[in-house]
Amino acid sequence: MDTNETKCQELQKKVSGLLLRHKSVLDSVTKFQESTARVNRAAVKSATNCGCIQINAKKQTIPEKVSESSIEDYHDFLSTHMQGELCENCKEVVVREIGNHFFYLAALANSLDISLEEALEKETDKIDTLGFFNLS
Ligand SMILES: [Zn+2]
Repeated sequence: MDTNETKCQELQKKVSGLLLRHKSVLDSVTKFQESTARVNRAAVKSATNCGCIQINAKKQTIPEKVSESSIEDYHDFLSTHMQGELCENCKEVVVREIGNHFFYLAALANSLDISLEEALEKETDKIDTLGFFNLS
């Protein structure tokens, strides 16, 4: 690896060198979509198969009075709807699926001649600009 190369650039270069069977943009698009489902499936199976996390969702409610408070106060009223944390085994599976997702994201970016580094920088700038309101 070139020492000035970012992890995004390194990934895109390696994926470019490896992808022969799924070189078509159609393969990249569909494998990317499939990898999204696999990340979600791994996260859900942590609750439904393993049980290391529990999911208990309900409507998010914010008291009107909070709107006069600071933005940080919203965190106290909003829930992740999740209890517990991933065990080692589930974490390993989720990390692996996220890695696979990155692989096909890099493949898609390569097909479209898009720099993941540039996309990451633009998204980070957007978050810096919009801050809290970005998540609505
Ligand atoms: Zn688990």
